[in-house]
Formats: sequence, C-alpha cells, structure tokens
Amino acid sequence: MFRKKKRKLKDFSDGDYFIEQQRMVEDHLRRRDIVDRRVLDAMLAVPRHCFVPEDHRHLAYVDGPLPIGCGQTISQPYIVALMTQMLALKGNENVLEVGTGSGYQAAILGYLARQVYTIERHASLAKHAETILQTLGYNNVHVLVGDGSLGWVENAPYQAILVTAAAPKAPQVLLDQLAPDGRLVIPVGGASYQFLERWYRQGDQFDKEELTPVAFVPLRGKWGWRDEGW
Ligand code: SAM
Repeated sequence: MFRKKKRKLKDFSDGDYFIEQQRMVEDHLRRRDIVDRRVLDAMLAVPRHCFVPEDHRHLAYVDGPLPIGCGQTISQPYIVALMTQMLALKGNENVLEVGTGSGYQAAILGYLARQVYTIERHASLAKHAETILQTLGYNNVHVLVGDGSLGWVENAPYQAILVTAAAPKAPQVLLDQLAPDGRLVIPVGGASYQFLERWYRQGDQFDKEELTPVAFVPLRGKWGWRDEGW
C-alpha cells in the first residue's frame, strides 16, 4: 500500500482514491484560489488517505477536517493548500511546523521544501505520524514530541514557519526563529473567532497581514491557550 519514495501523479496506484484525489484538487483547490502549481502538484502527490484513520478513510478526499485521535483533527485540504501557498515555498527552505497531528501537512511541506522540522505535543500522534512519513519516504521530515509554541531553536533559522493550531497571538519566540527574509503563517484567536495571519521578517522588523477567518483547535503550551482562556 505504501511507497518508499515521494509519489508522482503517474506512480499513484490506489485507483479508487486517485480519482477522488484528482476531484478534490480540481473542485476544492483549483476552482477556488489555489494557483501555485507546486502546491497543486503536492496535493495531487501526497496520499491523504494514508494519514486518515481507517474508520474515516473513505472520507479522506472530502473537503473537511477529520478526527485523528487525542481530540485532534487533520485539517481541511483547502486550508492545508491555502496555508502552504501562503508560505510561497520554492524548494530550498528550512521549514518548521508546529502541530504535526496526522503528519499530512508535514508531508506536503516535505514535498515542497528541503528540510521540515515538525513538533507535536501528543506523543502517540507524533509516533504514528513519524511511522507513516518514514514508510512513505519523507526522509526530510523530522518529528519531535514537545511544546511547539517554543519552536525548535537547534534547527533555526527557518525561511518558513507554519502553526496549525490557534494561538492567542503570534509567539515572539517563533518570530525570532525566522530567517531574515522568513515568513510565519499562524491562526490567531480563540474558540469563537480566528484569523490567519502572515508575518514577514525584514531584518529586525516584523510586518503582519491578516488574511482569512478560520477554525482551528487550540495551540497549548507556554505561548498557547490555557483551558480557561479558550
Ligand atoms: N498539521 C496537522 C495535520 O496535518 O494533520 C493538523 C494539526 S491539528 C489541527 C493541530 C495539532 O496541534 C494537534 O495535533 C495538537 O495536538 C497540536 N498542538 C497543539 N498545541 C501544540 C503545542 N504547543 N506543541 C505541539 N503541538 C501542539
């Protein structure tokens, strides 16, 4: 079932899923505002169904989030594509992801960048994600169990940082781990109201754009939400 290398469209042999995957890319990504050719290629190449638990696998290419255990979710494909497009990856980047979850977003990043470092606070999710990523051959994706709100300073600086859980605000400690021309994409807000923010670093200056409303699970940890605040 799994292949030990990054898959190209022509290599994809899971026939049933392949048609659904093509349809997802056509109907939910290309017909909306996903225009980055490399992102569309990645969304066609990475088998989302491999990252979805078996009981929901038949829904793998429906455009919605799905449960992955520990009360967490694999994000909606359109949001994965949108956030990835916002990073404008060219292929040579060092990337940090906070919130590994299923490992799907990390695989997309692994397809598009040079090295990907991803942090998950639930050890069981991290272990499962790492196993799938290794089996599929994403050897440039490195998984750590820990508090991702602190970043992963040993591998900084990062040209791109993606946070896949909603924070009270963009943690300065993550902004500080950006390369001089780096960008950070992060959902900011609480249970009732969140916006995607894109931050740019220009030397010591940080500029931010607020982009689109979203709905994510909370970022926990030192710079995340406490139970009572969410
Ligand atoms: N990117 C994931 C995927 O492709 O499946 C989806 C991520 S899910 C929406 C958010 C994840 O962030 C959850 O797995 C959650 O446990 C994790 N998370 C929340 N706070 C965290 C923290 N401080 N450090 C690391 N992971 C965290």
